[in-house]
Amino acid sequence: QKFVYDFTEGNRDLKDLLGGKGANLAEMTNLGLPVPPGFTITTEACKVYLESGSEPVELRDEVTAHLDALERQMGKKLGQADDPLLVSVRSGAKFSMPGMMDTVLNIGLSDESVTGLARQADNDRFAWDSYRRLIQMFGKTVLGVDGELFEEALDEAKAAKKVASDTDLDAADLKKVVKHFKKIVKAQTGRDFPQDPREQMDLAIEAVFNSWNTDRAKLYRRQERIPGDLGTAVNVCSMVFGNLGPDSGTGVAFTRDPASGHQGVYGDYLQNAQGEDVVAGIRNTVPLADLESIDKKSYDQLMHIMETLETHYKDLCDIEFTIERGQLWMLQTRVGKRTAGAAFRIATQLVDQGLIDEAEALQRVTGAQLAQLMFPKFDENAKVEQIGRGIAASPGAAVGKAVFDSYTAVKWSRSGEKVILIRRETNPDDLDGMIAAEGILTSRGGKTSHAAVVARGMGKTCVCGAEELEVDTKRRRMTTADGQVVEEGDVVSIDGSTGKVYLGEVPVVPSPVVEYFEGRMHAGADDADELVAAVHRIMAYADRVRRLRVRANADNAEDASRARRFGAQGIGLCRTEHMFLGERRQYVERLILADTDAEREESLKALLPLQKQDFIELFEAMDGLPVTVRLLDPPLHEFLPDITELSVRVALAESRKEPHENDLRLLQAVHRLHEQNPMLGLRGVRLGLVIPGLFTMQVRAIAEAAAHRIDAKGDPRAEIMIPLVGTVQELEIVREEAEQVIAEVRAQTGVELKLALGTMIELPRAAVTAGQIAEAAEFFSFGTNDLTQTVWGFSRDDVEASFFTAYLEKGIFGVSPFETIDKDGVGALVRSAVQAGRATRPDIKLGVCGEHGGDPESVHFFHEVGLDYVSCSPFRIPVARLEAGRAAS
Ligand code: ADP
Ligand code: MG
Ligand code: MG
Repeated sequence: QKFVYDFTEGNRDLKDLLGGKGANLAEMTNLGLPVPPGFTITTEACKVYLESGSEPVELRDEVTAHLDALERQMGKKLGQADDPLLVSVRSGAKFSMPGMMDTVLNIGLSDESVTGLARQADNDRFAWDSYRRLIQMFGKTVLGVDGELFEEALDEAKAAKKVASDTDLDAADLKKVVKHFKKIVKAQTGRDFPQDPREQMDLAIEAVFNSWNTDRAKLYRRQERIPGDLGTAVNVCSMVFGNLGPDSGTGVAFTRDPASGHQGVYGDYLQNAQGEDVVAGIRNTVPLADLESIDKKSYDQLMHIMETLETHYKDLCDIEFTIERGQLWMLQTRVGKRTAGAAFRIATQLVDQGLIDEAEALQRVTGAQLAQLMFPKFDENAKVEQIGRGIAASPGAAVGKAVFDSYTAVKWSRSGEKVILIRRETNPDDLDGMIAAEGILTSRGGKTSHAAVVARGMGKTCVCGAEELEVDTKRRRMTTADGQVVEEGDVVSIDGSTGKVYLGEVPVVPSPVVEYFEGRMHAGADDADELVAAVHRIMAYADRVRRLRVRANADNAEDASRARRFGAQGIGLCRTEHMFLGERRQYVERLILADTDAEREESLKALLPLQKQDFIELFEAMDGLPVTVRLLDPPLHEFLPDITELSVRVALAESRKEPHENDLRLLQAVHRLHEQNPMLGLRGVRLGLVIPGLFTMQVRAIAEAAAHRIDAKGDPRAEIMIPLVGTVQELEIVREEAEQVIAEVRAQTGVELKLALGTMIELPRAAVTAGQIAEAAEFFSFGTNDLTQTVWGFSRDDVEASFFTAYLEKGIFGVSPFETIDKDGVGALVRSAVQAGRATRPDIKLGVCGEHGGDPESVHFFHEVGLDYVSCSPFRIPVARLEAGRAAS
């Protein structure tokens, strides 16, 4: 096994072995681009080190051999006193990972070689500047010294000289800084800064290995679901110097604009500087375009290289480069991050340039990016007053009056006000307020804080951790960094996509992508529609290749029509309980509490025409497409009066000696029906089986509505779905009754009706006995919300706000199992139920309803297990279409 690869030996496909940085350095080297020579220690070596606690025995010799070769090539030895070879030691895992050790530059400098470097470069200042950087970076990342100490020492030196920038420190100043730095190292670590160059290099390599397992790195991996055993590679790269004077410098660049996708010159350049100065923002950079006038030759060469890289990688690349006395060097490249809009634009631009095909274009965008483009945005042209900035925790643009507690949030929103709930941080007690608010703003906490997790779950705009805002909940106000006070009731605007917080109302513009899906904007060619045109094309590719059909969860004609505009191919879930709210609730209440058949009949008779009308409208909106109607599935308590309220009313009446027979009777019934765990109680098919006539009334309404539509020359395709079935016997009973009703309607109307009957698979027992259940079901729809609750044994309504935050922080989940399907647990049940169902009934139709149907990762899973369709809320349909296309291509 080989543990070290020269840059000339690797290539970009070896990211597992060489890490992203190493693989791309090798790729550039082989493209003939000017990369400073060097070598990469593999992730395998790191794995051995992490497992056994020491480096593989062969590693030392291999490193020596590669170092020898490097020294021969460069004509000087590492740390050589009169003319030192210097190297950087750079970490680089397969996935780029903040939280790991960064890079140590200038390894090989010592008290001796610093003077050699000065003489060679004919530049004292440069040599001492490089040396102080080495001690600083090495001290911090390898020896674990608090970086602040070095910063303070440097600030002291600047203050002593009354200058602002470290470029104003001369060689003599820097010599003093070095002395001071070495003292810090000694004091903090009890040892001298190592003078032996090879020891410096070896210690740095070991430090990179160890950085794989820091707490921060582990946490990051758990959250991002990066396996913990990949290990990191280490790159040893000969140094080139951007800090040799004005003819030197360093910069970063993109091959095209990562915000718009447009081709052009994008990047920053800093003269007389080394690596990290650009990112650290120590001095002001100049736009990359200015390099043309600073150093035309290097600029032209850079432009040429960027074109080479784009053509080669067939994608936007970002790069790091350094110019040493007019000579350009490439230090890093990778396929660059980009905004959601740019991802769509770039994908289609690359198709037009002939660099990629349509299937590849689909892989270049994601459903998450599309979802981002569908949120409304603040008007970019509006005048704004920004008062703070936090973490963009949950996207969207929200405007409302500032309130500082949940109670006020609820109260004000009830009276029709829009409010923004502002808290230092939120906790489960704030839930009501969060629901009532347009958006949530906190001054503490990160992306996994309570506020962030809950807001994302609710699809509510949230900015969290806006630390410069001082929130004072007692006095109901917050103070900005410059002392401005925002009182309760003042209007604020928060942008959950950028984290920016504004005072006053910023106008909101609808997303052009939604306007397009709604049919209010067409994929024209003028500049504003460039994004829409790109989305239009990519959606067309996706629709062409996808196998999964996409349906909507919709309960009324309005939602159904919108879903259809968004591309829905039917309704996968119509929840009939939504049709029993409002005025109709009294009928249901009476139905449940009925003592006599006559009472029951009466309520059912009142409900039938209402239900029928609902279905007629729905079938009309979805004419020609399947509509799956789920029979009533409420937790009972939602239809009964609140037990506490009712008790109080009865007690009051009693004490006042007022008549209260009705309430008393109601109270007794409520007591009788009261359940400790309503979600596991009398609901779904159980309700249909114990309340005579309920399901048959619904089936009759569906059948009559279908007959009505056929009479009107429509094409209704109703599917009747029985919820919460656990065993085939339940289904058989309901089925028999339903078939009888359908036959009656057929006879009465003389219309030939075809209605499919099927069930939800949402209980573990149903999944396990799916083979039996398929005997009585023409279709399955996996109810993955309930299935997740019952498989995990936790209630969705309670856990998200209580222990999920802790679970996410501990990395037990990377993401809530209610958001993305738990493939190993819930998913395994779905997979086996699919097989069992098909074994019994080969033409069984299989789908999924529930929030997972619109979640990108879950959609891929459903494609893979072979479902026929997914169903999701209307707004998520485009995302599901796109992801279904990506899964199939
Ligand atoms: P990161 O992954 O944080 O970008 P890098 O390993 O790329 O870390 O290095 C940090 C900075 O140091 C970058 O600006 C890089 O260009 C610069 N750098 C790294 N190696 C060298 C080198 N051999 N010569 C000059 N600059 C270097
Ligand atoms: Mg870098
Ligand atoms: Mg359910």
